[in-house]
Amino acid sequence: MRRIGVLTSGGDAPGMNACIRAVVRAGLAAGLEVAGIRRGYLGLLAGELEPLDRPDVVNVIQLGGTILGTARAPRFERREGRDAARQILADAGIGGLVLIGGDGTLKGGGALVDEGGPACIGVPGTIDNDLLGTDRSLGFATAVDTALGAIDRIRDTATSHEILHVVEVMGRHSGWIALASGVAGGAEAIVVPETPTDLDAMADRIRDEIDHGKRAVLVVVAEGDPSGGAVAIADHLAAALDLESRATILGHVQRGGSPIAADRILGTSLGAAAVDSLLEGRNAVMVGEVGGRIVHSPFAEATSGPAPLDPHLLGLLDRFG
Ligand code: ATP
Repeated sequence: MRRIGVLTSGGDAPGMNACIRAVVRAGLAAGLEVAGIRRGYLGLLAGELEPLDRPDVVNVIQLGGTILGTARAPRFERREGRDAARQILADAGIGGLVLIGGDGTLKGGGALVDEGGPACIGVPGTIDNDLLGTDRSLGFATAVDTALGAIDRIRDTATSHEILHVVEVMGRHSGWIALASGVAGGAEAIVVPETPTDLDAMADRIRDEIDHGKRAVLVVVAEGDPSGGAVAIADHLAAALDLESRATILGHVQRGGSPIAADRILGTSLGAAAVDSLLEGRNAVMVGEVGGRIVHSPFAEATSGPAPLDPHLLGLLDRFG
């Protein structure tokens, strides 16, 4: 293998640039050429490949988003699209790919490998933290921190005005961001899609807290919870408790921003591990970190989630949230 490619795909996540940088530096150090593929599988299909050298990854470790860009590419979900991509990679002499993205990105890599390659190594890059085979995916820690900053600010105003606030954080199928930011923010209730929600029981519990002197009530909800988003829950609780309420939907602010140290370190560690994996002859596996150690999980296993919520944190909900 003389040349490898790297792409970012699916939703962007803070820490992706640290990972791209690590792939380039580890690749060059091993005597490989590294090609950056722009805009994920969409750019691959358009032949948007360019050599990446050390100067191309200077001053990027602290940047949010992805310097390579990302996109959704429905054509890559079809055999015809993947065959076209394989030809483009073969013409460019690329013998291995590092795919930084979420569940869909890794499924795409799995299909590419099954149909003839080249070798693909995945890096979990999604703020949702919904992949199996890693304790954390790139961007999750930063997204939680960003959500927490907003929650803290909202709590200040909630305390001053004695108004009930419901904050909606990202997570269409996964409550990881809600659970982590809600626990860290001392939320009175946390609503996640993984567990059933009884809004009337929640209202009773909050009433009890108010009766015991609670002045600020803050509820954190994951956007994908079937009981409805922040607006629906705020309306329900306001009616049940006869309180004024406000709903805040944090939205895309959670995706952006400079990665916190944990994501820069994880991106660097997993990027280097992905290059090592290609050099060791591994294929169709995702590199992850479990208990502080690098592990390799077959794509099929890593994408068989969504990853269950941390049972210990979830248990705290019954006691504190
Ligand atoms: P995020 O978790 O941030 O949404 P993701 O990687 O899951 O990231 P997707 O949009 O689901 O994001 O997938 C990214 C791209 O991967 C798709 O646009 C498509 O090109 C490709 N892809 C997704 N699913 C498949 C699949 N089953 N087979 C082949 N390619 C796929």
